[in-house]
Amino acid sequence: MRAQAWPRSQQRASRFRGRYCRPACAPKPDRRLRSHTLRRGEGRETLDDKRARARKIIAGLRKAHPDATCALHHGSALELLIATILSAQCTDETVNKVTPVLFAAYPDAKALANADPAGIEKIIHPTGFFRNKTKSIVGACKAIVEQHGGRVPETMEELIELPGVARKTANVLLGTWFKKEEGVVVDTHVGRLAHRLALTWTSKDEKDAVKIEQDLMQVLPRKDWTHTGHALIWHGRRVCAARKPKCLDCTLNTLCPSAFTFEPSGEGKPSPKRKRGTGRE
Ligand code: SF4
Repeated sequence: MRAQAWPRSQQRASRFRGRYCRPACAPKPDRRLRSHTLRRGEGRETLDDKRARARKIIAGLRKAHPDATCALHHGSALELLIATILSAQCTDETVNKVTPVLFAAYPDAKALANADPAGIEKIIHPTGFFRNKTKSIVGACKAIVEQHGGRVPETMEELIELPGVARKTANVLLGTWFKKEEGVVVDTHVGRLAHRLALTWTSKDEKDAVKIEQDLMQVLPRKDWTHTGHALIWHGRRVCAARKPKCLDCTLNTLCPSAFTFEPSGEGKPSPKRKRGTGRE
């Protein structure tokens, strides 16, 4: 006998609409979230409503991820800058394996600025795009040595002038190391969650980092920009994955217009293909 992850009637309805229904045991969402136009910012939710909901989302994120912080290991602003450059299109785990070797061989900005690119490329090869990343690291370190006396600059304007450094990297540096709330880090997880949580309305898609950040800066209190960025990244990794968000376990499911609109994750439930007692798929 095959175990069903979802009631048959809901499976049929879901297949018909191409979406999955909210399970009966799921909590009811806020009434204003039922408008499907909400995600485009045309629904009944005003900017003030959105700000109020964003405050509740922040509270939920703080509860779920109280210790959310930057997962890249670092001991100085320079190490965090280099680690963030390396983290593009790469997991934090891989970066954390590579950076100790890199910093042992090249301990400061001057050493990296004068390094043979082939030596850096060899070390950072596992992080991918190693030639471009080497150019960014050497270029940024040359600028730091020549224009900033070997110290990583502390302003957004100066940071985004460094080769290979855009707003995302600058926001990581400013928020995590310098403790300055200048913007919100928008990576792939934050972009996805901003859309699912309807916290952005001007961006066309999840990759539109500039507009997503502008919208987030309007709805999130400034003092929470850095922590919320980190917490959204953690939430995206642990709960709201791209393909199988765990809406039933999510502390934000009464605040999220996208809750239960995806295929069930199967978390805690048997997959329809799993046979009871066999332990096999
Ligand atoms: S896991 Fe579900 S409820 Fe939670 S943020 Fe993602 S889509 Fe929304």
